[in-house]
Amino acid sequence: MSLQERSNKFLKQIIRNYYAKRPLKEPPLLSMREVAVQPFGSKSYVRHLHFTSMSKLYDYVIENPPLHLYYSSATYDDPGNPDMESKGFREADVLFDIDADHYPECSHSVLICSKCGYIWINGGAKCPQCSSTNLVSLPQLSNECLKKAWMDARAIVRILEEDFGASKISTMFSGNRGFHIRVEDKHLSLLDKDSRRMLVDYIQLGSLDPGRVFPKVKLERRGGYVALFHRRHEYGLRARVRDYLKSVESPLVIGDYEAYNYDRVIDAIDALKISIDPAVTMDISRLSRFSNSINGKSGLLSKPLDVSDEFNYNFHDFRAMNGEVLVKPAYDLAGITILDRKVNLRKGFVEKVEAYIGFYLALKGLVYLVRASGVEVLASEH
Ligand SMILES: [Zn+2]
Repeated sequence: MSLQERSNKFLKQIIRNYYAKRPLKEPPLLSMREVAVQPFGSKSYVRHLHFTSMSKLYDYVIENPPLHLYYSSATYDDPGNPDMESKGFREADVLFDIDADHYPECSHSVLICSKCGYIWINGGAKCPQCSSTNLVSLPQLSNECLKKAWMDARAIVRILEEDFGASKISTMFSGNRGFHIRVEDKHLSLLDKDSRRMLVDYIQLGSLDPGRVFPKVKLERRGGYVALFHRRHEYGLRARVRDYLKSVESPLVIGDYEAYNYDRVIDAIDALKISIDPAVTMDISRLSRFSNSINGKSGLLSKPLDVSDEFNYNFHDFRAMNGEVLVKPAYDLAGITILDRKVNLRKGFVEKVEAYIGFYLALKGLVYLVRASGVEVLASEH
């Protein structure tokens, strides 16, 4: 058995052992959802699966350990039908993706050429040394970047609750670079694509005309334009803008109103803009990860988080396993940050590393697992 085959066998076994603990959170109406998996060792997805119980789903995933495990945001009359038109669409949870690497200061990544092993930072689609396009990208996301994305996720949840009356909202770490929000309220899950596009636009403040929502008022004597806000009765965006302004400066109080310089109001609107991927939210046939499934890009868990959480986590907190593994690096990996650990590995030299780091590196094809007997998979609470 080659090093690669042996390593794959360990990876597959770890994934199987994890799912044998039955860690997944059951989606509502499972039997009406399409399930899709990317089996370990395959480049393509197996779609249009459907299961009438979690027990049957576990039988399948233990038999075919998946790198990625998804279910449809939509419910269907006939979820296993491979023809999307014939599935019988009922409704679809509303999803939001917030990735931490879209902030300019959070977009760093280390690239490794899988052909020659050259390592460099930030960009390019080709190896500067050998021009190969077979590159492995290692995102370098700090805790601050994740926290920033989490704060945006919380802001979206607040808008959904306050302005759209949503109450069935769940949030999770995606297992890779950001967070997912899922809304299961009926009045939103029945929205069509166009309405979802408007929902995204509302959150992003994309086509907002400030003058209509915040009429300009000229104050006599003081000069300059202001916007007026009622001290108590403001709702939705106007309340958020007022609260934001109040947190950074003192208003001029005029009776029941507070006046803010109009330029500051524009700044506040800019500060409250949240960038989200409209394609994700508009897509009513989207597949999304099971809570507590392993994300095969990183080996970390897609883990539910409470929206009130302040997010003081490291990647380590989302690991799927404890213990240590022995790895044989296929490349020189010196002084590189892997998730939240710095590694110093030399090509060909067997080293002991924490299991979740070894698992991550092996999934990326950068090391071979040579011993994995010390791995203890963690069963998440769900
Ligand atoms: Zn190269």
